[in-house]
Amino acid sequence: MDAAQDAGETIEQNASNDGEQGAEAKPSKSSLKKAARREKFAATKLERRTKEKLAKKEKKRIKAEKRAAGELSEEEPPKPKKRRVNPPFGGKVVVDLGFDDKMSEKEVFSLCSQLAYTYSANRHAEYPFSLIFTSINGKSLARLESLNDSGFKRWANTEWWAEGYERLWEADPAVKQTVVYLTADSDEELTELKPDETYIIGGLCDHNRYKNMCLTKAQESGVRTARLPIGTYLADLRTRKVLTVNQAFEILVHWTDMRDWEAAFQAVIPKRKFEESSKEREKTAAANTVDSSSSSSKIVLSVEELEAQADES
Ligand code: SAH
Repeated sequence: MDAAQDAGETIEQNASNDGEQGAEAKPSKSSLKKAARREKFAATKLERRTKEKLAKKEKKRIKAEKRAAGELSEEEPPKPKKRRVNPPFGGKVVVDLGFDDKMSEKEVFSLCSQLAYTYSANRHAEYPFSLIFTSINGKSLARLESLNDSGFKRWANTEWWAEGYERLWEADPAVKQTVVYLTADSDEELTELKPDETYIIGGLCDHNRYKNMCLTKAQESGVRTARLPIGTYLADLRTRKVLTVNQAFEILVHWTDMRDWEAAFQAVIPKRKFEESSKEREKTAAANTVDSSSSSSKIVLSVEELEAQADES
């Protein structure tokens, strides 16, 4: 089946089914491990329940003893139940969809799947971002409308603007200083995310055809640019890395949760990418890029790989 189409057609299911995909077809090492862990957990259930019951009994007995000895006043108010509710991170993420005319229909389909994965990742995030999709138009809009009876319109905490991201600072030009366009082509490296900043991700699936496309656009808009510090934290992956929209987004989400770039990259970039990177760098770059004439080798993660990634996680 067309991976992009499948992912797009099942936007809602994607949100919950990521882990299950492909489990029946060919169980991966990690899914076998998971199954073994589940089995072990189930097998020790009775034992755990018995232990818990005994512990509860013992606690009750101690309390009764204390009460009898007058150590416990009857009026002692019950302790309030602790429940940690995370506040949202505060930062905004904008996905700039202003590249619709630069993509083939197939690429637009892939992009729309990536948008669905992005939304899903934000929904499950410990500290979600405010998510805004700007410049929604053309083929992308038509594609989204054709999926799940315009399901995207029901995505929670998500804004869709027909206008470009410039609307961010329309009312207050000072806001522009807080905007950072993320692109692998930037000379600046992102060191941390700040709750009062807005990060733009280029909504572009171009198989690396348009180098510097987002960089140039950002420079023309007069906003700062930055690349994710992948090479600094992952010694194995020193080359220029171009990720998909949802991977870039998921790295941000993981960073806000763990405050650790290395852990965030490892959580998002498929492990085999690291293994591959040294020995198969050239091969991967050639297979995945249209622009294989360029001297720098690139690792482009396609939608097919996204599917594989979903299987792995
Ligand atoms: N040729 C396009 C590539 C699009 S990849 C370009 O000119 O950028 C989709 C988006 O993911 C990028 O626009 C960027 O916002 C984000 N992205 C991918 N890899 C990244 C990296 N290494 N650092 C920062 N952002 C990245």
